[in-house]
Amino acid sequence: MEQQMILRVKDLQTAYYVGKRRVNAVNGVSFELKRGETLGIVGESGCGKSATAHSILQLLPKNGRIEGGKVEYFPKEGEPVCLSECKRTGRKMREMRGGEISMIFQDPLSSLNPVYTIGDQIIEMLRAHEKISKKQAAVRAAQLLDKLGIPDAEKRLRDYPHQFSGGMKQRVMIAIAMICNPSLLIADEPTTALDVTIQAQILELMQQIQQEYGTSIMLITHNMGIVAEICDSVAVMYMGRVVEYGSLKQVFTNPKHPYTVALMQSVPVLGMGKDKRLVSIEGATPDGSTVFKGCPFADRCTKAGPHCFDHPPVETEPEPGHRVSCHLYTEGGAAE
Ligand code: SF4
Repeated sequence: MEQQMILRVKDLQTAYYVGKRRVNAVNGVSFELKRGETLGIVGESGCGKSATAHSILQLLPKNGRIEGGKVEYFPKEGEPVCLSECKRTGRKMREMRGGEISMIFQDPLSSLNPVYTIGDQIIEMLRAHEKISKKQAAVRAAQLLDKLGIPDAEKRLRDYPHQFSGGMKQRVMIAIAMICNPSLLIADEPTTALDVTIQAQILELMQQIQQEYGTSIMLITHNMGIVAEICDSVAVMYMGRVVEYGSLKQVFTNPKHPYTVALMQSVPVLGMGKDKRLVSIEGATPDGSTVFKGCPFADRCTKAGPHCFDHPPVETEPEPGHRVSCHLYTEGGAAE
C-alpha cells in the first residue's frame, strides 16, 4: 500500500522586503513528505531552508510574504488544508500550529522565556490547547519531561531556563512541541547549538518519538552526516531553490548535482585516512537579492560550462523520484 502523503509544497515562492530591496528567499520550492517519514532539507546558511519552514507555518516576519505556490497539509482524517491560503493569525492557522504541526528551533535559549520557570512555560502551552486545571497540567508536564529523559522531572519544573544545560533545554523545547502529539514536527537545525554527544542524544530522542507516535519530521540542517543518519528523503537547497531531491539512497549513492557532490565531500568519514582532504566549496553564497540569468551556482561550480551562465537550468528526473536542476542532465549539457 502506498504511504499517505502528509505535506506537499508546490512551487513555493517567498520574498522579504528590506527597504526598496526585494530578497527572494524561496524561489519555486517543491517537495513532498510522506506520513511517518523524515525529510531532510539541507544546504548552506542563507539557502532558504528556514524561510521555507517559516512559510509553511506562516511564521514569517512582517516584511516577509508568500508570493506564489501552494502548501498543502493532509490530515489523517478530513479534507486537505491549504496552509498557504490560511490567514497568518486566523483560527485555522492557530489550530494547525501546535495541534497538527509543531516546530522546534535552533537555539532553545532564545525560544524559552528566561523569566518564567520551565514548568510555567509547559503548563501554559498545555492549557492553551486543552481544557485542564493547573494541577493536572503540572502532572502532565512532569510526565512529559520524565519521558524525554529529564531526571527528577517534578522538581525541575520549578527551575528557570538558565538552570538547564543546552541539551536539556532542547529536550524541554521538544516536550513543548510534542504537547498536542502533532502529526508533523518541523525541526529547524535542532542540534546546531549543541556539542556532538548531546546532538546524538537529541537525534535519538527524535527517532524514538517518531517510532512511538508515527510523527513525520521535516529536518532542516546543513549537516549531511545528520541527514544520512535519520532521513528517508532529501531536498538539497541552494539560493532558495531545491536543486536535487530524492530518496536518501538515490541522493547519497548517486548524487547528481555538483552542489550535492561538494556538500558530501565536505563531510568527514570515519577511517578516511590522513592523506584524504575534505573539500570546501569555493566562494560564498550570493546575496539573496541577486537576480541570476543562468544557474545560481555557476560562479562556484567546477563543472560549469558557458551555457550555465546564460540559461537557468530546468528540473529533470534522471530516475523515477530523483529530480535535479542542472544542465549536465539536459540535452546538450552544460558545455554547449
Ligand atoms: Fe554547475 Fe552548470 Fe549544473 Fe549549474 S547547471 S550546477 S553551473 S553544471
